Amino acid sequence: MLFAIKKETFHNILINLYLNELMVSKKVIIVGGGFGGIFTYLNLHKLTHKNKLVSFTVISDKNYFLFTPLLPEVSSGVLFPEDIITPVRENITCCMDGFILGRVDYIDSKSNTLKVGEKIVNFDYLVVASGASINYRNIDGAKKYSIPFKTLDDSILLKNSLIDLFEKDELIKDACDINILIVGGGPTGIEVGVEVSQLIDELLPFYTKLNRDFHNIDIKILNSSSDFLKGFPEKIKKYVLDNFGKNIPIDIVFNAHVIRVDKDTVYLEDGKSLNYDILIWSAGVSPNIIKMDKSYALSDTGRYLTTKYLNLKDKENIFTIGDVADIENMNLPMLAQTATDQSKICAINILNSIEGNPLLEFKLHQKGLLLSLGKRNAVAQIGNKFFTKKIAWVIWKLFYLSEIFGKGSKIKIVFNWILNEFSPRDISKI
Ligand SMILES: Cc1cc2nc3c(=O)[nH]c(=O)nc-3n(C[C@H](O)[C@H](O)[C@H](O)COP(=O)(O)OP(=O)(O)OC[C@H]3O[C@@H](n4cnc5c(N)ncnc54)[C@H](O)[C@@H]3O)c2cc1C
Repeated sequence: MLFAIKKETFHNILINLYLNELMVSKKVIIVGGGFGGIFTYLNLHKLTHKNKLVSFTVISDKNYFLFTPLLPEVSSGVLFPEDIITPVRENITCCMDGFILGRVDYIDSKSNTLKVGEKIVNFDYLVVASGASINYRNIDGAKKYSIPFKTLDDSILLKNSLIDLFEKDELIKDACDINILIVGGGPTGIEVGVEVSQLIDELLPFYTKLNRDFHNIDIKILNSSSDFLKGFPEKIKKYVLDNFGKNIPIDIVFNAHVIRVDKDTVYLEDGKSLNYDILIWSAGVSPNIIKMDKSYALSDTGRYLTTKYLNLKDKENIFTIGDVADIENMNLPMLAQTATDQSKICAINILNSIEGNPLLEFKLHQKGLLLSLGKRNAVAQIGNKFFTKKIAWVIWKLFYLSEIFGKGSKIKIVFNWILNEFSPRDISKI
């Protein structure tokens, strides 16, 4: 009898210990305030808020979330910079240990700590969603002379540079050629090219000496291979080429492999060279890898190579998602939809790991591909359905509107889109 009581008490103690262990909230650190980071917070918070299983710290070197799909519309004056950003602190409001504005320089996977400047932060679980930065591909002069297209500052710089160019040419030249080169025939290069072309159309009436009929305004997209829009269906590529030939004055130059850039000239591998007034760089990105105590496997393109459960091999509590990560043999597209889909599995797997349940595999499901071609024109493939022109343009607008955070941003964007239908876009230098 005595033995039985003792056994029962012992069991109760074990159960209490287990419950206490569960009750102590785990410290989850999220690095990056972009798509992967913020959506991991939102998804994991939804799963753990009730039981207070997790407390969060988000660390990002920008204090705002940037909605990149609408970045080209900022450079062309359709939208304003503040329309497409939301403060990180507005997106993360509950179960928080805090937000740290800073850059994570080092992760010690052995002691489960990381460094932000001089500050050491410890974690039970870490999610690295540090994204990617522009890739100049070690091309001499590219970084010095081109305008990259990745950040909010880049889009403002591009708009200001275009306006400066027009102001300068209006002042000093009777007749002139304006040459704009865009390096990179991916979706960013195409969308930026179209927006630049449409901004120029709207600038021209305000510059009396400059006029497309009397001056040669040339926009070229330089694509290093014979194929462009990698990963996009042939139908979308054909639609883009047809439009560029007819109503959108942009040339795509295939097999134009840039090897060197100087102040006003781009040199190609085949010996040719092209002059430019503005050079836009959108030739891909490279992952923002953070230094670690141990060298974990990287993919061919330098991204963290994770297991199909999205954590690092042999390190169950460090997850990495979005542009900075890849899964062996998957070559994941570097898209916002990949990052947000991964954030769902990452959140479930952190919870499963805390509760001792098996982890879930990530599977890539591409919902569709959308490409804006400016005013009332777009192209989209959703499942096996193909849309063009106004219908695709409405789908594009509605889809991105539904994705952007915050009622305030949605209202501002709709307002500016409607305004843009009836009045000229904003051509002030900011
Ligand atoms: C112009 C443009 C248009 C695009 N259009 C589309 C589109 O239409 N559809 C689509 O699906 N995708 C689009 N993308 C791609 C999409 O933006 C990315 O795939 C997506 O942002 C990846 O999410 P992420 O969380 O990995 O990185 P990000 O969203 O870039 O977030 C990374 C965050 O981490 C921060 N950070 C980086 N390093 C550190 C560090 N060491 N410490 C702390 N913080 C750090 C960064 O400042 C950033 O806030 C577009 C991209 C661009 C540039």
